Amino acid sequence: MSTLTPTALTALAARLQSLQPKSDVVLAPYTTFRIGGPADLFCEPSSTNELASAVLAARELEVPYFVLGLGANILVGDRGFRGLVIRNVTSHERWSDDGKLWVESGAVMRNLIAESVRRGWSGLEHFVGIPSTVGGAIWQNLHFLSPAPERERTVFIAEVFDSCEILSAEGTRETVDSDYVHFGYDDTVFHHRADIVLAVNFALTKADSNAMYRVMQENLSWRGARHPWLEINPSAGSIFKKIEGVGAGRLIDQCGMKGFRVGDAQISHIHANIVINLGHATARDVRELIATAQRQVEEKFGHKLEPEIGFVGEF
Ligand SMILES: Cc1cc2nc3c(=O)[nH]c(=O)nc-3n(C[C@H](O)[C@H](O)[C@H](O)COP(=O)(O)OP(=O)(O)OC[C@H]3O[C@@H](n4cnc5c(N)ncnc54)[C@H](O)[C@@H]3O)c2cc1C
Repeated sequence: MSTLTPTALTALAARLQSLQPKSDVVLAPYTTFRIGGPADLFCEPSSTNELASAVLAARELEVPYFVLGLGANILVGDRGFRGLVIRNVTSHERWSDDGKLWVESGAVMRNLIAESVRRGWSGLEHFVGIPSTVGGAIWQNLHFLSPAPERERTVFIAEVFDSCEILSAEGTRETVDSDYVHFGYDDTVFHHRADIVLAVNFALTKADSNAMYRVMQENLSWRGARHPWLEINPSAGSIFKKIEGVGAGRLIDQCGMKGFRVGDAQISHIHANIVINLGHATARDVRELIATAQRQVEEKFGHKLEPEIGFVGEF
């Protein structure tokens, strides 16, 4: 990682002038946890060219940067981020008659799902109710366990992925396919390389809108009954990675930790693998709660819980 100097930060702000960068922007409102201190510099590119330029400028001036989507899978530290936060609000899209969709990576899945169902194209509706940009969805291979008994299985975004345009770690712009992306469970090449997803091509299939609305309704009902509602309880979704055949949430529950609190961070009464912000939780509270759950589960069951969320900035 590069080291930050005040001169580099000033030079970067000047380079990004057309994007009207702001200084000392508190990040909490840009995350679903509603937690996190200020970014030194903050900009919101609204096209792939602007996104690529912001990343390239930060790299060239050796200023640390972070590409932010909806902030739904991260915990930002209370002291914020030293460097540039690039909040990706690119959202142009192009639909073709054969179900091919080209969309910029900052597009919000909720809007895209509504539009694809309206047009009668199927494939994205399974992910209704999951906060994500397209870039974040590809980054982690967004998935959802479809609840209806007749089609119970985990659906992955990789299934409708065709290709994507990236700004590579080396600075080139190229189109790559799924062999390159290497989709796994909560994993892609983008966890291991500094490539940025600029835009994605999806391949959708024609389907009856009513059937898609039914899937969405079932998924939302299932989710609504089992997860704390984000509108009421800010969170980052599941805190710990899945433990095959056991379930991280079940282990935490069996330690009697539902409702356990550190400050305003609480293990949800509804789902033990979700930490909620009761109003004024700090990143420090969340980290302490995570450490306590890890300790208790390891002592009682010998399982090591691994955080699923990313930790961003200074704590
Ligand atoms: C209530 C709730 C429920 C959830 N349920 C699910 C679920 O059912 N299934 C599931 O899979 N996830 C779930 N999640 C997790 C979360 O929704 C996903 O991880 C989502 O894809 C995060 O997208 P984001 O845009 O918010 O990414 P962010 O959290 O902003 O970023 C996550 C990572 O992606 C990187 N990134 C973002 N955009 C790009 C880009 N364009 N190029 C390269 N890297 C990029 C960031 O740098 C960061 O490292 C849930 C979260 C919440 C809060």
